[in-house]
Amino acid sequence: MKNISIIGSTGSIGTQALDIVRANDDLRVVALACGKNIEMVEKQAREFHPELVSVMSEELSKELKVKLSDTDIKVVSGMEGLCEVSAYEKADITLTAIVGMIGLEPTLAAINAGKDIALANKETLVTAGHLVMKAAADKGVKILPVDSEHSAIFQSLQGNRIILQGNIDNPLSRILLTASGGPFRGRTREELEDVTVEQALKHPNWSMGPKITIDSASMVNKGLEVIEAHWLFDTDIDDIEVLIQPQSIIHSAVEYKDGAIIAQLGTPDMKLPIQYAFYYPERRYLAGDRLDFTKISGIQIDVPDYETFKGIPLAKKASRIGGSMPTVMNEANEHAVAAFLAGKIKFLEIYDMIEYAMSQHKVIQDASLEDILSARDETDRMLTEKYGV
Ligand code: NDP
Repeated sequence: MKNISIIGSTGSIGTQALDIVRANDDLRVVALACGKNIEMVEKQAREFHPELVSVMSEELSKELKVKLSDTDIKVVSGMEGLCEVSAYEKADITLTAIVGMIGLEPTLAAINAGKDIALANKETLVTAGHLVMKAAADKGVKILPVDSEHSAIFQSLQGNRIILQGNIDNPLSRILLTASGGPFRGRTREELEDVTVEQALKHPNWSMGPKITIDSASMVNKGLEVIEAHWLFDTDIDDIEVLIQPQSIIHSAVEYKDGAIIAQLGTPDMKLPIQYAFYYPERRYLAGDRLDFTKISGIQIDVPDYETFKGIPLAKKASRIGGSMPTVMNEANEHAVAAFLAGKIKFLEIYDMIEYAMSQHKVIQDASLEDILSARDETDRMLTEKYGV
């Protein structure tokens, strides 16, 4: 029996993870955390019987306590509650399926409590990869990627003498990180001027939460993923090449020094990487569509348009500068995406806000957790002052 704790249980990744638990008798949910969706988390609590549930605020926790008063489930709230869920003593593995850098402190709490991490929350590694990977190495816990591309890379590395934290006798030449290109692939900057929230939320291949869907449209998501891959696989940022693969069939690949390229392919289904992380190193049966090579006309590969979609160059720049800069890049994006989703800014202003925040920031090298959290707060303050959102 494997005991799982999930932060972000009511979201796209969280609910798919619960589908996997539902299909497997040897997985058990011991703790759940969500934000505001207490109706859904109540249903989840009644179905999966966790011992602990956390919600965003004390007010919501009071409501949920009333709803669950006929059970013995403990209800907690806020950052303290999130950390309690992610580090829950009975958990063997914690799935970080919360969105945004709010996932950083609970992820560190889980690592410090010795939990393996199934990591979907990429913002954690983007903002504090140096702290997270070091804490994981110190505690001897695994960081198992859930992001489909990183899971594909991880799967392609198996059996080739690569280990997750630091590598021995590294035979890896480069990482080929694929991207669908999102709903605006092929558009010019002019054509992006007046795109709507609704258009940006229409991802061609994946059904995901709103923040990552907008990040996919701007390609900031792929920029964040480059930084995520840099930390997970201890690979230089310039040895990570992004390729556009519009059908999302090749989920990513690695090239070895002998020229061999190993990739993981399949239909787009997040349940595979989630399940792989839960059972690693085992592979289990997973129901779902299979890729039929006889029914596809070809596999298209293009290079990204870095001039129009600035997400990747901005992330690479932030990563090369290092220290607190990736935090500023990430937080400016979180701030801008929330403003875009609320209809307060235009799509292209997402890039403007990131560039502005990065241009104003005085980098702190070897940033501590406190430095990172204050760089985040300073970024929000600066952007609100400049853009009024
Ligand atoms: P969703 O928006 O669908 O879900 C986010 C989850 O986080 C919800 O459960 C939400 O709770 C919870 N949450 C948000 N804010 C808080 C808070 N302050 N306190 C507690 N809980 C909070 O996101 P996704 O599932 O799409 O993405 C989650 C993470 O996984 C992101 O980092 C994303 O980049 C990554 N990822 C997602 C993929 C996907 O296919 N969706 C693919 C690869 C990576 P509530 O709804 O109750 O408010």
